[in-house]
Amino acid sequence: MTEIYTVTENYNDEYWMRRAIKLAMQAQEKGEIPVGAVLVADNEIIAEGFNHPITDHDPTAHAEIIALRRGGMQLQNYRLLNTTLYVTLEPCIMCAGAMVHSRIQRLVYGASDMKTGAAGSLIDILRHPGMNHQIDITGGVLAQECSSMLSAFFKQRREQHKALKKLKAQQQEMP
Ligand SMILES: [Zn+2]
Repeated sequence: MTEIYTVTENYNDEYWMRRAIKLAMQAQEKGEIPVGAVLVADNEIIAEGFNHPITDHDPTAHAEIIALRRGGMQLQNYRLLNTTLYVTLEPCIMCAGAMVHSRIQRLVYGASDMKTGAAGSLIDILRHPGMNHQIDITGGVLAQECSSMLSAFFKQRREQHKALKKLKAQQQEMP
């Protein structure tokens, strides 16, 4: 019985993660790092968000923060009890802190972030023994899709920078 339950749960996680990936693509269309987040309770979407700090001139406009803010508005409560947040990339320290404040029950993320991940990769904010609120974490859901989306984005951006540099150099060479 336990096994059947686990399979069902994983299926649901992948389902919501696919929605988060779609949101991440919206970020990418705006030239932002592709990260998307979906806040879910009782098998329903409460709120969504995608990363857009550059467009909004807002260093806090990460996908998770957007989803948590909208979730609070939607529930008319600053505590987002019994909710699960799905995000395509392991959250940073800022977002992990916001998750603790919002009291979400569970975090599900896709790709790990070795450089800035605050759900265990760099630091573990969400399960820190000194924290008064502990959050359940499931990592690595559709990790391959989530991380290849990111690496394709960064590769494209490097190529764009290179092409721009080349163009500038050519312009300087002109008499
Ligand atoms: Zn963040």
